[in-house]
Parts: sequence; structure tokens; C-alpha cells
Amino acid sequence: KGDPRLEAISEAIRVVPHFPKPGIMFQDITTLLLNPKAFKHTIDIFVDRYRLMDISVVAGVEARGFMFGPPIALAIGAKFVPLRKPRKLPGEVISECYELEYGTDCLEMHIGAVEPGERALIIDDLVATGGTLSAAIRLLERVEAEVVECACVIGLPEVKGKFKLCGKPLYVLVEPR
Ligand code: AMP
Repeated sequence: KGDPRLEAISEAIRVVPHFPKPGIMFQDITTLLLNPKAFKHTIDIFVDRYRLMDISVVAGVEARGFMFGPPIALAIGAKFVPLRKPRKLPGEVISECYELEYGTDCLEMHIGAVEPGERALIIDDLVATGGTLSAAIRLLERVEAEVVECACVIGLPEVKGKFKLCGKPLYVLVEPR
């Protein structure tokens, strides 16, 4: 660590208290996207990490994984696969659900988007409990892809570093402020 780019990334993320409900400290990455230097640092750090790992699939979690995943995929020469909320994808899908504070939510992936044996990187903006990323991992494992790592811009301190999701490593850039 000690990378000055991480400081710039952290400072570019706006914290909005009590959004979308009381008690939540919302980490707003739209302000990171407004800052071309900090946004480029974010993509560069991921690209440097993954460019030589023989990754053929970058899977992004709706919606904020769609903002970071495609530039990484293009730079490392991988395909981008959207993992979407229910009933958004028009083709045949597989689905994995996960627990929320109230109720459940699901992610879906097009059948045929990923082939058995492909090496996958999963991207989202933030990991809190890891429930969302775990559902994403299960989707890729159901089609026999190898999940190399999950990567997020922001990680809660308790999950940062060596935290494992379904036995898969997690890489995060910054903690919430
Ligand atoms: P989890 O499944 O608990 O790891 O939650 C991660 C998902 O919820 C990600 O898709 C995040 O975008 C979103 N999320 C959870 N907590 C926050 C937060 N404090 N600020 C912004 N997004 C959040």
C-alpha cells in the first residue's frame, strides 16, 4: 500500500449519510466517475493486477459493476458479462438468490455467455456482507468457470484483505470513510 492513487480514489468517493434509509452510510461512486484522474487510477490498478492472470471473463454485478467492469475487460482483452437483476436479460438465464436485510434478491446470467473452464474475475463497487458476490460466484461456478478473484473499489474493514467468499479471494482498494 502507500500508493498515493488510493488516497485520491478514497477522496473522490462521496459519503451520503442516511441514504437510502436511516443509518446507512452510502458510498457514492458517481463522484469518482466525475473525477477522470481518480477514475483512471481505479481502472489502472485493477488492470495492472489482472492483465497477466489469463482472465477471459470479467463479470460485472448490476448496476455499479457495469461502470468498472467494461473498461477493465477491454484493457485486459477479456469479454464482459453482465450479472443482472431478475427479468432484465432476454435470453435463457440461470439465477442465484441471496439474503437481504428484508427478503431476498437474485442475480441472473445468460446461459452460453461463459464456457466451462473459463477464468473469471467478478467486479462490483462495494462489498459489505459478501452476499451479492457469493451469488455471483455461484452463477459462474454453475457453468464451470474458474473464479480467479472478486474485486471491489470499496470494502468494509471487516471483510478487507484476506476475506474469502465461497473460498475465493477478495481484492479491495479502499475502506469506507
Ligand atoms: P453485500 O451483498 O452485503 O456485500 O452488499 C453489497 C452490495 O450492496 C453492492 O452491490 C453495493 O453496491 C451495495 N451496498 C451495500 N452497502 C452499501 C453502502 N454503504 N454504500 C453503497 N452501496 C452499498
